[in-house]
Amino acid sequence: MLKRRDFDCIVLGLGGIGSGAAYWLAREAGGGILGLEQFELGHVRGESQDHSRIIRLSYHRPDYVQFAKLAYLAWAAVEADSGTRLILKTGGLDLGPRVSAIPLESYMQSMEAGGVPFERLDAAEIMRRWPPFRLSDDIHGIFQADSGIAMAARANAVHQSMAKQHGALLREHTPVTAIEDAGDEIVVATADATYRCGKLVIAAGPWSNRALAHFGLRLPLEVTKEQVTYFAPSDIRPFTPERFPVWIWMDDPSFYGMPVFGEAGPKVAQDAGGKPVEPDARSFDPDIENLKRVTDFLERRMPSALGPVIYTKTCLYTLTPDRDFLIDVVPSHPNITIAIGAGHAFKFASAIGKVLAELTLRGRTDADLSLFSYRRPILELADPPKTYMV
Ligand SMILES: Cc1cc2nc3c(=O)[nH]c(=O)nc-3n(C[C@H](O)[C@H](O)[C@H](O)COP(=O)(O)OP(=O)(O)OC[C@H]3O[C@@H](n4cnc5c(N)ncnc54)[C@H](O)[C@@H]3O)c2cc1C
Repeated sequence: MLKRRDFDCIVLGLGGIGSGAAYWLAREAGGGILGLEQFELGHVRGESQDHSRIIRLSYHRPDYVQFAKLAYLAWAAVEADSGTRLILKTGGLDLGPRVSAIPLESYMQSMEAGGVPFERLDAAEIMRRWPPFRLSDDIHGIFQADSGIAMAARANAVHQSMAKQHGALLREHTPVTAIEDAGDEIVVATADATYRCGKLVIAAGPWSNRALAHFGLRLPLEVTKEQVTYFAPSDIRPFTPERFPVWIWMDDPSFYGMPVFGEAGPKVAQDAGGKPVEPDARSFDPDIENLKRVTDFLERRMPSALGPVIYTKTCLYTLTPDRDFLIDVVPSHPNITIAIGAGHAFKFASAIGKVLAELTLRGRTDADLSLFSYRRPILELADPPKTYMV
């Protein structure tokens, strides 16, 4: 039988960002918030589910540095509200050749502009502090002490739990099958119900274009299948969070890694090293060539991190062509907001959720979203040039 229920706001998609939005909407508004997730809460088919994601202030543009400050504040507010720790500071090392595809200069300039302290390190100092690295003299790095781990799976579950605590209704196994924007209300259909609401937040990750298709819209997004690998080295002690930082190799290909967290060994991956896929048709099999690039890198730069593979876990990126986020009101649909994370948004999941809640409830936010606009020219191109190395 067709049910009819009314909500102030519906959140479509309860991955990392949608769970953050549901939390902040419920915290600000109390009841009247419905979250709809097509799979089970905590599923692994999307972008957001693993033990850890890197969080850092170190970014290539001042606007990201400012937004990253808001990210830390948002997580701290959720930690205080829930009594649950979600961020583990380990310090973060960005390192690579002095001449590289991802120069460190823009990172240093952006942090200087934002008043964020960091240290410049040469290869010898990096190896003195963190002995697993094997570096030649042409390598340099920057260390920022606030970087660390966002406890992703736990953070998603806490956002969801606290959203419910603040009065939100979250429904899993409930795909949204149709959306109609009737101007003064939005009608959202699922298999067993039709919901009317005043505002809609789209946080559909790899399925964003499927959601936008309900309005005849399409963005030039590329969904890729990425992967991370946990290794079991013979000695894990040099890789514990007390002794080892999160790190990013700033060149093309770009690699990154985490200290021991969630499994008995460090996690290492290539950034944006995956192939394009359809989110509903993709496999969960590891890409062996991608894994070989990671192990080749470790053999050269961090051989003591190698050991038997504990497991390789696949995950999706939803990439905008410029790798910048999309956080905006949908053009011609003033009651609908959307966020797309461009493969580096977990650290911002709570802050983006908060911003979406502010746009939804107040029609404005103090956060600077100008570079994350829906109307930026590159998103209007059908086949835009792609810049994934940032
Ligand atoms: C391997 C890997 C490593 C990463 N590392 C980092 C990192 O170190 N630091 C960092 O900051 N970021 C990192 N990221 C990026 C970050 O994880 C993502 O940007 C972020 O998780 C995106 O979240 P999301 O909510 O947009 O997407 P998702 O988590 O995929 O959520 C979208 C949700 O919408 C649901 N949905 C879609 N359509 C419908 C519908 N019609 N009805 C109902 N539900 C629907 C989906 O089922 C899904 O649950 C990494 C990503 C990957 C894959």
